[in-house]
Amino acid sequence: MSRVPDYDAVVIGAGFAGLYAVQKLTSLGFHVAGFERGEDVGGVWYWNRYPGARCDCESYYYSYGFSQDLQQDWTWSRRYAEQPEILNYLGHVADRFDLRRHFRFGAAVETLVFDEADEIWRVRAQGGPTVTARFVISAMGCLSAVNWPDIPGIRSFQGRLLHTADWPHDRVNFSGRRVGVIGTGASAVQAIPHIAREAAHLKVFQRTANWVLPAWNRASDPDFDAWVKAHYSEIRERCATSPGAVPFDAPTQSALETPEVDRQAIYQKYWDLGGMRFFTAFTDMFSNLEANATAQAFVRQQILKIVNDPETARALIPTTHPIGVKRPPLDDDYYETFNRPNVNLVDIRNAPIIEVVGQTVRTADADYEFDDLVVATGFDAITGALLALDVRGRGGVTLQSRWREGPSTYLGLGVAGFPNLFTITGPLSPAVLANMPTAVEQHVDWIADCLDHMRREGIGVIETTEAAEADWVSHANEIVGQTLYPHAESWYFGTNIPGKPRRFGVYLGGFGAYSDRCDGIAQAGYEGFRFTSAPN
Ligand code: FAD
Ligand code: NAP
Repeated sequence: MSRVPDYDAVVIGAGFAGLYAVQKLTSLGFHVAGFERGEDVGGVWYWNRYPGARCDCESYYYSYGFSQDLQQDWTWSRRYAEQPEILNYLGHVADRFDLRRHFRFGAAVETLVFDEADEIWRVRAQGGPTVTARFVISAMGCLSAVNWPDIPGIRSFQGRLLHTADWPHDRVNFSGRRVGVIGTGASAVQAIPHIAREAAHLKVFQRTANWVLPAWNRASDPDFDAWVKAHYSEIRERCATSPGAVPFDAPTQSALETPEVDRQAIYQKYWDLGGMRFFTAFTDMFSNLEANATAQAFVRQQILKIVNDPETARALIPTTHPIGVKRPPLDDDYYETFNRPNVNLVDIRNAPIIEVVGQTVRTADADYEFDDLVVATGFDAITGALLALDVRGRGGVTLQSRWREGPSTYLGLGVAGFPNLFTITGPLSPAVLANMPTAVEQHVDWIADCLDHMRREGIGVIETTEAAEADWVSHANEIVGQTLYPHAESWYFGTNIPGKPRRFGVYLGGFGAYSDRCDGIAQAGYEGFRFTSAPN
């Protein structure tokens, strides 16, 4: 027999996903409690305050589309807004829709236990009382569990120790300092040029060279902004239906079938446009090694043109993976930074960092002393935040044991054996390979429709079936196998975390097609889900 819970739903996280989930559910009359471990809203944009932090999707579509008034009223100052502006935007959203009052801040959820007798979730945050809810909605983020590398002694570094994903709120001044940066992923690539401009000396420890593309960030153009505002409905619709949740045309021509001279011109055109649009040049960039090699050759030439020292240029050219299949960072003078006299690249591929002692980073062949050490080693992505909790479903089974071989979900939304638990942008959804605000809105809308449907029908429990989950996992894996993604070790596979099972965590079937499929499933009476029980 069900018991009346404290809340209809608990939402965990106050980033793009949690804020919209709370807005949407409360607007439908659900009684909702939000929990956020940070002291305020913002998610990624609350934590990642390193210099140079900004979005890599252009702001006019890396933003909410759910409110016509909001998108008409808000004006972005840059093509890709910087972290303070995005944080300000999310704060504005929280104020505008009066969302903060639903949240407890500084409240890290530690346990989620499904009570089978009462058909409710028992939720406990650090130091807080247990609350009960019919539904739990995870909005804990794909890139929110900080990854500290397992380098002995690193946490005891005797200078100033900083992690890009947990950056101090006060400005960090690097003037006159000897700085080391570990990592060359998207966070490091954004931070390095800014640190280099201030520091006395900067050394960048690179384990794997990355393909870096130009962002060409710039101040917003008022004419373009006016055009966007006049066309927002079409822009959002294009995002909703495109493979990457972006308002751009998908490619139509094959790189291999395009003559070399035209191919170069097309790559140049997309290089000059900037950003991830480079990957909309040709249809076969992600499926054919030979086609991908033509893109690599183009970018290799750009690196050689920009970087003055031939040895540094050679070290910066990736050799380990095709372009695009390990998240390519977007730069703001990244390659140019290595022409500065105060910057050195330390290639640690063959001489890894062995330990940190006092203020010294020790590699297999040298010691380097620093005042500041910036750790830009990313996240335990996609599953990290969820698996940090003690989550128990039916029969007391833990999520950790269910996902021992890697994450397994239906649509990235639900897990068999964990009733009434929804995961926004969860594992095996398009999530991090789509423009995320669009992906978030699609999931929240789908979940809200489902809860509304259950309320109208007097249904208390929804649960994905094991068969639907197994089919989804094998469908998602099959698509990965048709792409070049398995040619790179990456956080998409979880291989950045020692001991984590190697399973691709993202659905590659395209956002638009995925979204249609979710709608079709709902229209077919939530195919693949099982409904049981009626609440009091
Ligand atoms: P988050 O913003 O990560 O929010 C999750 C929240 O959950 C966090 O505030 C966290 O503190 C909270 N939380 C986690 N665990 C708990 C717990 N146990 N208890 C309570 N609270 C908890 N995506 C794009 O599409 N385009 C971009 O340009 C882009 N830029 C990015 C830049 C950076 C620096 C990073 C790190 C990521 C970027 N992303 C980008 C991906 C980013 O994850 C999404 O764009 C978006 O911010 C996700 O929002 P979210 O609400 O799902 O998750
Ligand atoms: P990341 O891409 O995982 O990069 C981590 C870096 O640290 C890699 O260069 C990695 O090397 C290195 N590293 C990890 N452990 C190491 C060790 N023990 N010794 C030496 N080097 C080590 O992390 P991130 O840069 O924070 O980015 C994560 C994701 O967040 C991005 O891919 C992106 O999706 C998102 N992000 C987005 C933006 C944006 O859109 N504006 C900005 C920042 C981040 P290896 O490659 O060899 O593992």
